[in-house]
Amino acid sequence: MTCFYCRGDMRESVTVYTVQLETCLVVIRNVPCFECAQCGEVEISDETMRSLERIVDTCKKLVQEVAVVDYRMAA
Ligand SMILES: [Zn+2]
Repeated sequence: MTCFYCRGDMRESVTVYTVQLETCLVVIRNVPCFECAQCGEVEISDETMRSLERIVDTCKKLVQEVAVVDYRMAA
């Protein structure tokens, strides 16, 4: 896999995904992704994005201010 921006090598990595909602902030750690070795661009697969949406949805109902979730525990 090559980077969309600079054509560098994309490597498997983990990232932090943060969403600011109306009522709370959700921070999801250890999200699997591909990261460009050259420019640092991060890409998250469609499948992972769907899991993230699910986690965010759950947090929306449960959390009042800030939620910090570990992807490996929640997905
Ligand atoms: Zn790149």
